[in-house]
Amino acid sequence: MSLRFDAIKEVSTGHKVPVASSPKITAIFGENVFTLKTARQFLSDEAYKSLTGSIKGGKKIDRAAANSIANGIRAWAESKGVTHFTHWFQPLTGTTAEKHDSFFTIKGDGTAIEEFDGGALIQQEPDASSFPSGGLRATFEARGYTAWDPSSPAFIMEIDEGRTLCIPTIFVAYTGESLDYKAPLLKALESLNRAAVDVANYFDKNIAKVTATLGWEQEYFVIDEGLANARPDLIQCGRTVYGASPAKGQQLDDHYFGSIPERVYAFMRDFEKEAYKLGIPLRTRHNEVAPAQFEVAPIFEEVNLAVDHNILLMDIMSRVAKRHKLKVLLHEKPFAGINGNGKHNNWSMATDTGVNLLAPGKTPKTNLMFLTFFVNTIKAVHDYADILRASVASAGNDYRLGANEAPPAIISVFIGEYLSRVLYDIETRVGDKFDEQDEAILKLDLHRSIPELLLDNTDRNRTSPFAFTGNKFEFRAVGSYANCANAMIALNTILAETLRGFKKDVDSLMEKGDKKEIAIMHVIQRYIVESKKVLFEGDGYSDEWHHEAERRGLGNVPTTPLALDALQTDKARALFENNNVYNQAELEARHEIELENYIKKVQIEARIMGDLAINHIIPAAVKYQNRLLDNINGLKGVGLPETAYESQLEIVKAISNHLQVVYKQVHELVEARKIVNNITDSRTKAIAYESQVKAKFFEEIRYHVDKLEQLVSDEEWTLPKYREMLFLR
Ligand code: ADP
Ligand code: MG
Repeated sequence: MSLRFDAIKEVSTGHKVPVASSPKITAIFGENVFTLKTARQFLSDEAYKSLTGSIKGGKKIDRAAANSIANGIRAWAESKGVTHFTHWFQPLTGTTAEKHDSFFTIKGDGTAIEEFDGGALIQQEPDASSFPSGGLRATFEARGYTAWDPSSPAFIMEIDEGRTLCIPTIFVAYTGESLDYKAPLLKALESLNRAAVDVANYFDKNIAKVTATLGWEQEYFVIDEGLANARPDLIQCGRTVYGASPAKGQQLDDHYFGSIPERVYAFMRDFEKEAYKLGIPLRTRHNEVAPAQFEVAPIFEEVNLAVDHNILLMDIMSRVAKRHKLKVLLHEKPFAGINGNGKHNNWSMATDTGVNLLAPGKTPKTNLMFLTFFVNTIKAVHDYADILRASVASAGNDYRLGANEAPPAIISVFIGEYLSRVLYDIETRVGDKFDEQDEAILKLDLHRSIPELLLDNTDRNRTSPFAFTGNKFEFRAVGSYANCANAMIALNTILAETLRGFKKDVDSLMEKGDKKEIAIMHVIQRYIVESKKVLFEGDGYSDEWHHEAERRGLGNVPTTPLALDALQTDKARALFENNNVYNQAELEARHEIELENYIKKVQIEARIMGDLAINHIIPAAVKYQNRLLDNINGLKGVGLPETAYESQLEIVKAISNHLQVVYKQVHELVEARKIVNNITDSRTKAIAYESQVKAKFFEEIRYHVDKLEQLVSDEEWTLPKYREMLFLR
C-alpha cells in the first residue's frame, strides 16, 4: 500500500507525546541564556564592566577582558553540561549556521584541557565559500569570519542530551563586506539611533539613545509528519504544488480562535518551554484563519534580539515538532485556496528615558514629538515604498502579496480615521496664521482619543500592508519564512534617512528665525502634503484600490525579480551608503543573492511538479483507467449494450484528456527551463523563470492534476489529500 494510507492509519492510532506540566514560566525563563544577571555571577567586576560597557555604550572589549569574559561564559556553560561551542550566525541562505567546536584541546606538552579563550569568543573562521556571497567572493576573498555580537547574549542550545554554547555573531568577508543579515541590521539600527536622538533632542535634551523595537507575529501550519513525508513537494519546497480543494476548507471560519487541537497543544507547550529557557518572551498562541494554521507572538524586544529570537524559534519549532511526529510549515503559501502565512512586524522606537516615540503624548510637547516621528515614518514609507517592497520580496511571498489575500503588493499606510483627521487639520489649518492656530493642534488630546478610536478601527482593516495600531506600526507584508532582518534593515534605514532630512529642514527654518515648535510644525505640514498619497484607509484587496493606486502613482510590483529592481537605483545606493548600511558592492551582492534565491526556488518547484506528475499522478491515473477498461471490456464481453458502460467510458476519456495535457505541459516546461537556464544575467534569468516557467505552466499543470485527483479512484491516489493534511491530527 502507498505511504499515504500507512500515514493515515498511523494518525488514527495517535501520537500524543506527554509533555510534563510546565513549571511557572518565571522559574525557567532565560535559564539557558548568559544574561547580565548570570554574567554578574560568573564574571569579575572588571570583565562585567567591560561587557556592560559594550552592550550599553558600544565600547570595545579589549583582549584581556575578552579572555576573562570567555572564561566566565565557559564556567557557566560547563556548569550546565556544555562541551561544545559554536559561533551562531545568519548567512543569506535564510536559515542559521553553526560550526561546532569543543572546549577540549591538547596543549603543547600533551595535557588535555578544556579551554575557551577570548580569541575563540571574539572571532572564528567558518569556511565561507559555501555560503551565498553574490559575487563578493569573486571580487574579494573567499575567506570570511564570524565576529561576536555582544548585544545579543550567548545561549545554550539543548538537543536531546547534547548541549551547545551558541555565541551570536555577525558574518563578514575578510575585506569587511557583510555576508549576513545581522551586520547590516546592526548598522541600520545604529544609524536610526543617531538620527532619532538628534530629532528627539528637540523635545528632550536628556534622550541619549533610541532603540527600535520589534514584536513579530509568526504564522505557521502544523500537520501530521507521516502525511507530510508522503508529499515530496512539502518536503522539498515547503509547499504543495498540487492538491484539489477539500469539500470543507476555511469557509465555516470554525477554526479561527477555536479550541486548539490536543496534539498541537502538547506541541505548543513543548516548544514554548524550550523558548522560555532561551529567554524568548512568548506571550500569545492561537488558531489562525485556515484549518491547521496557528500563530505565536512574543512580547516585543529590541530589534536585534527580536530578530535572533524569531529565527531561533523557527528552528526550535521545527525540531520540537519532530518529537510529536508533527511537521511545521513556515512557507508563505503551503496550501492553495486557503490563507497563507505572514509574519506581521510590529515596530516602534523607545528612548532611554522610557518613552515610546510612536505613542501619542499626554502633553502638547510630547504630542508634537509623537507627531514628528509619526509623520516622518509616513514620509519614509512614501519616499521609499519601493525599498520596503523589495525587502519583503521572495519566491514564497509572491504567492501571498498581491495574490488577493494578505496585503497587496502596493505599499500604503493605514492610520485610522482620527489621525487622518488630525493630519488633515494640520495640512489645511497651518498656514501663515500658524502662530494662532498651532495651539489648538498641539492641545489635541491625542493620548486619550487615539487608543479608543483605533481599537475598532484598525482591527477591521486587515488589508493594509503598513498600519498604525495605536502605539506602533505594523508591517504586515513580511513573509512567514523570512528573516525579519531584511524588513527591519529597510525600515530603520529609511526612517534614519528621513529623520536626518527632517532635522536639516527644521534647523534651516530656525536659522531663518522660526521658533522651534513653529519650524517643526511647518516641516510636518510640508511632509504631510508631500506624502499623503501613500495614506489609504479603504479595502486594500479591492480592484478600486488598484486603479486608485495607479492613478496616485503608487508602485504595484507583484513579482520578486522586478520588485528587487528597487535595490539597483541611485536612490537606493545613496540611501544605504549615507546610512553606512551597504556600500555599493554589498548592495549589488544582496540583489544578486536575492535573484539567485528566487531562481533556485522556482527551479526546484518546477522540477518537483514534473517529478510528481510523471511518477505519481500519471501512474495513478493510468492504473485507474485500466481498471475501468477491464470493467468496460467485461461488460461488453457478457453482451451488455453501451448504455451499461457509457459513464465508465466518459471517465476514461476525461482522464485521457487531462493526462495528455499534463504530460505535454510537463515536457514543455522542461524545455522552457532548459532555455531559461542558458541565460547568464541573473536578473534576466529570474524574470524569465517568472514569466516563461512559473506564470506559463504552474497553474495550468496544476489545474489538470487537480482535476485528475477528483476523477481518479481514491485508492489509487498516492499523495495525501488536502482534507487529510488539514484535518487529520
Ligand atoms: P494584540 O495584537 O494581540 O492585541 P498587541 O497589539 O499589543 O497585541 O501586540 C501585538 C504585537 O505587537 C506583540 O508582539 C507586541 O509585543 C507587539 N508590540 C506592542 N507594542 C510594541 C512596540 N512598542 N514596539 C514593537 N512591538 C510592539
Ligand atoms: Mg497584530
